[in-house]
Amino acid sequence: MKKAFALAGCFCVLFCVFPATGGVEDDAIIGIRPEALRAHVRFLADDLLEGRGTATRGHDIASKYVAAQFEAMGLEPGNGGSFFQPIRFRTAEIVTEQTELKLLRGGLAEPLVWGEDFICPPSSSRTELALTGRVVFVGYGIVAPDLGIDDYQGLDVRGKIVALLPGAPARLPAADRDRFSSGLAQQDAAKGRGAIGGIALWTPEADKTIIPFARLAEDYREPSMAWLGDDGVPNGDIPWAPPILAILSESGTKKLLAGAELSKEPAQTLPNGDSLRTELPVSVSVRSVSKHTESTSQNVVALLRGSDPKLRNEYVVYTAHLDHLGIGKPVNGDAIYNGAIDDAAGVAAVIEIARAFQSMKQKPRRSIIFIATTGEEKGLLGSDYYARHPTVPQSQIIADINIDSIGLLYDFRDVVVFGSEHSSLGTVVDRVAAKMGLEVSSDGHPERRLFYRSDQYSFVRIGVPSIFPAYGNKPVDPKVDGAKLRRERAQRYHQPNDDMSQPMDFEAGAKNSRFDFLLGYTVAQDEDRPVWKDGDFFGKTFGKGK
Ligand SMILES: [Zn+2]
Repeated sequence: MKKAFALAGCFCVLFCVFPATGGVEDDAIIGIRPEALRAHVRFLADDLLEGRGTATRGHDIASKYVAAQFEAMGLEPGNGGSFFQPIRFRTAEIVTEQTELKLLRGGLAEPLVWGEDFICPPSSSRTELALTGRVVFVGYGIVAPDLGIDDYQGLDVRGKIVALLPGAPARLPAADRDRFSSGLAQQDAAKGRGAIGGIALWTPEADKTIIPFARLAEDYREPSMAWLGDDGVPNGDIPWAPPILAILSESGTKKLLAGAELSKEPAQTLPNGDSLRTELPVSVSVRSVSKHTESTSQNVVALLRGSDPKLRNEYVVYTAHLDHLGIGKPVNGDAIYNGAIDDAAGVAAVIEIARAFQSMKQKPRRSIIFIATTGEEKGLLGSDYYARHPTVPQSQIIADINIDSIGLLYDFRDVVVFGSEHSSLGTVVDRVAAKMGLEVSSDGHPERRLFYRSDQYSFVRIGVPSIFPAYGNKPVDPKVDGAKLRRERAQRYHQPNDDMSQPMDFEAGAKNSRFDFLLGYTVAQDEDRPVWKDGDFFGKTFGKGK
């Protein structure tokens, strides 16, 4: 009798601590509280932090705040004895008054007009770039024997400048076009054939499918940033590659091609993929001047050590970007781009997810690294720097879960996880969603290329399977007009009114953060590390099998 009673008591204890359907992680996620998320966002998005621009005082204060949170909850510093990973940056700004491009024909020089006919990208490696050469039109400038393409066939470009169309022919499948989206393969081909520089021709086609020339011109007027390696070399600098000297608009392209025969149809004045590749009866002289300044900004990195003696040497990474756009052009009298949802909210989630992990008596099997990155809005710079200068062996980083804003618009019944279709992380997403009673929806806007546009992509580029989880389009309450709320949100994206004045549902944000916690926890517990799917583009391009 006594014994049976004792047994019953024992069952009760077991049942209370470990509910029938869950585990220790269910206790942990209760610790992710909406009030805590709101408090972090309120502080990080305060006007005092002046929009947390990369390498500004506001960002420095924000990074101290995050480090203090990590330290207070008892996490280990993630970079040796420090929570900070400082990065040197170089800002390059094009000096338009000193930048010129001339067409040379029959002893005459025809200057083109900056912003109308041509633009030059700022160079972070050289303050002055001056080149003159004959021009050869090479179509898309692609050399890919496996696709049966050699745009240089029959042409001699040695010591010359190549004029090329951006991107890749529309007739190629999307995965093949992706290979050429960064332009690296084309630079490689130009170098291989001995060209000294390149000029991109921004045709109406590129205007439509990539970005309008006018927007590109605005972008290039803005200073660009690069991180500097220990050797002082900026990232993205490819010393071997012939530089892209300039980009010509439709009007600039017409002037360059005057008198050239690109087609049997004499009326064709703009080139396309079917144009004849040929040497043009013109030389180009380009001089572009960039002004350089240097600064420092830091990633914040914390470490939670795993419990499994073997697996603890593998690391699951959480990232969210702490930087935003800083102070900029005033809109309705407000010049501070606070970035409350983008991405103070993601950083808040990472802080509370870290707290949930730290609260667990039985820590996950693998170790977890939490990073609040800098320089994301400048081109994923802080995450790229980390991926290439990791604080743990690069080969032991097994996944990145990147949180770039959380669902604060409405309570949602589905999730969209960018990148999940590329690796075995997709099955983790399915398992966690099922556990939380959430549907998994597919990316309704693949043309936005979100998988390439936030910090997870820096990890993808070092071969690490990664995901960018987001809330879905289906509100729990059928009376809520989710589409309208998302449209209103889009109006605030990268505007000064992405601040605390907007309606935010932090209960939904907590639910989103719990989902993100369970993703990382599941990856940290699983016997096998995530792998790219067989034949996947990213796995083939960046993974071990490359
Ligand atoms: Zn963002």
